[in-house]
Amino acid sequence: RQAQYRLLRDKPSRSIDGVSVSLLLNAGLLVDLPHLGETGADGVGLFRTELQFMIAERMPSAKDQQALYADVFASMGDRPVTFRTLDIGGDKLLPYMPRVEEENPALGWRAIRIALDRPALLRIQARALLKAAAGRHLRLMFPMVATSAEFRRAKALVEGELDYLARQGSPRPTQVSMGAMVEVPSLLFEMDEIARAADFLSIGSNDLMQFLFAADRGNKLVSGRFDNLSPAALRALRRIAQWAGAADCPVTVCGEMAGRPLEAMTLIGLGFRRLSMSAASVGPVKAMLLALDTRPLTEFLDRSLDAVAPGHDHVETLRPALLAF
Ligand code: PEP
Ligand code: MG
Repeated sequence: RQAQYRLLRDKPSRSIDGVSVSLLLNAGLLVDLPHLGETGADGVGLFRTELQFMIAERMPSAKDQQALYADVFASMGDRPVTFRTLDIGGDKLLPYMPRVEEENPALGWRAIRIALDRPALLRIQARALLKAAAGRHLRLMFPMVATSAEFRRAKALVEGELDYLARQGSPRPTQVSMGAMVEVPSLLFEMDEIARAADFLSIGSNDLMQFLFAADRGNKLVSGRFDNLSPAALRALRRIAQWAGAADCPVTVCGEMAGRPLEAMTLIGLGFRRLSMSAASVGPVKAMLLALDTRPLTEFLDRSLDAVAPGHDHVETLRPALLAF
């Protein structure tokens, strides 16, 4: 199997009807990056910067952060990388940070919420990223954005750091793109605003589904109760693809869904053209793509998800039907 997937590495990732899909890697540490060459992925779609913080015994200094980001850029060659700013809190605790007791940590003080309340954290990280990206294109995105106002505040903080570097005469990136993770359902009702404010979007389907269905992703009693291929989940995803397309805002899916061939196939049928996944998923997803004709799939999805016609059987999940493609 592995050897078979390796044979696919240098083939263009394109369906049989000519739809190109960018396959990207999820990463978080330098050891993940050699997989770029092994898998032939187009770049890193999600670099989880919190990993460096989670494995450290104390808060990584600004220097440590900048050094890691510079090493990441050095490993990328000219392939793009999208850094996600610190996604801590919830289930991602740092041993050296005081623990905040919360009844519902997943709904609690985490990710961009901490960054906006403790802006020094984001400022230091943003400065480290901007410095490490000197002479290159920096793509960064914020996790757990619930409103477009939050996104704009985080973006302004990063722009403040960019101005600071300009005043210092320090080397800066050639371009800075800022994106929002779409993983809190409220953002689906502010799609116009966020698609206009952000340079790109990235769907964190793990959290998006957890919050959409109100089912803790870490609790086995409930995490399997809903299906990512149910009409509700697929309609939510399709709306995001449509809105982002209408606003000309590039959108990636970077949750685990994107790395499972049947779900990746469905995402492509819904119109997504950028999928980010673990290294082990690239081969299986690419094998699926090379054998896929998107036209009947898209027709099927449109037919199944559009307004329910009289006599239309309501299905709980499209999984069995999708398996037939
Ligand atoms: C997600 O929520 O789908 C995601 C990619 O982020 P994480 O799994 O790191 O929360
Ligand atoms: Mg998430």
